[in-house]
Amino acid sequence: MIDYMIRAIDETGSIRVFSASTTNAVQRARETHNTTPVSTAALGRVITASLLMGNTLKNEKDKISIQITGDGQIKNILAISNCRGQVKGYISNPHADLPLKGKGKLDVGGAIGNGIMTVIKDLGMKEPYVGQTELVTGEIAEDLAHYFAHSDQQPSAVALGVLVDKDYTVKAAGGYIIQVLPNAEEEVISKLEETIANSEPISTLIEKGYTPEDVLDYICEGLDMKILEKKDLKLACDCCQERIERALISIGENDLTEIIEEDGKAELCCEFCDTKYNFNKEELIDILNQAKNK
Ligand code: ZN
Repeated sequence: MIDYMIRAIDETGSIRVFSASTTNAVQRARETHNTTPVSTAALGRVITASLLMGNTLKNEKDKISIQITGDGQIKNILAISNCRGQVKGYISNPHADLPLKGKGKLDVGGAIGNGIMTVIKDLGMKEPYVGQTELVTGEIAEDLAHYFAHSDQQPSAVALGVLVDKDYTVKAAGGYIIQVLPNAEEEVISKLEETIANSEPISTLIEKGYTPEDVLDYICEGLDMKILEKKDLKLACDCCQERIERALISIGENDLTEIIEEDGKAELCCEFCDTKYNFNKEELIDILNQAKNK
């Protein structure tokens, strides 16, 4: 099954739901970053959250970033998505390793630790919109729900799940966000709260073969839901030679001169997709000249 998401609203206009399956994107991120199971789960949840939130973007150049900074083994995770359902992800420590929690669960909260969640919405305005909240559990879903409630004043329920197989591949990944809209009907909310409280973990549902539509039916049982949009999702990077050149220009004249004199070449690696970019001496001299003219 390819990765995709749906956006739906109930007939009373009380709630809107984003539901996604992201198994392939998370598996590709695992291959790119060669992550251990707990790092796979943490990165996969942030990637899934970013894809779900990216659905609210309207314009081609709009971007949404979720950044997690914690004092645990992982330190930093960053996922950036756009309106086309594409996401790129970065994790500073792909090799975090912690003992399993009860019931054999991966200890994502322990690997993240205490810290902050930063959400940056770049909507093509002069300044991007930046919201920041403290992490509640480090398990990402609870942290995102907390973010919505405190930074966006938007009551939400969030589920994010990644199931890692014994051979470290990703067996299932996905998530949903349910947002309570203004003037929501009390009856709808209490019905929803009851279903969510008794629901199975999202990764279990996806492992069973539930599609985003099936997950929607499951969590919104008894509600009349209308699907407004369906969108394919994938892990994709937008790096290119020019972007890496700009990064080189920004390191400054002194460092560039040192690289030219000592190494005579440079290899830079995109931290999102691991693509390598090579620069020979002439190219570096050209970049140095651009840095001088800045
Ligand atoms: Zn890249």
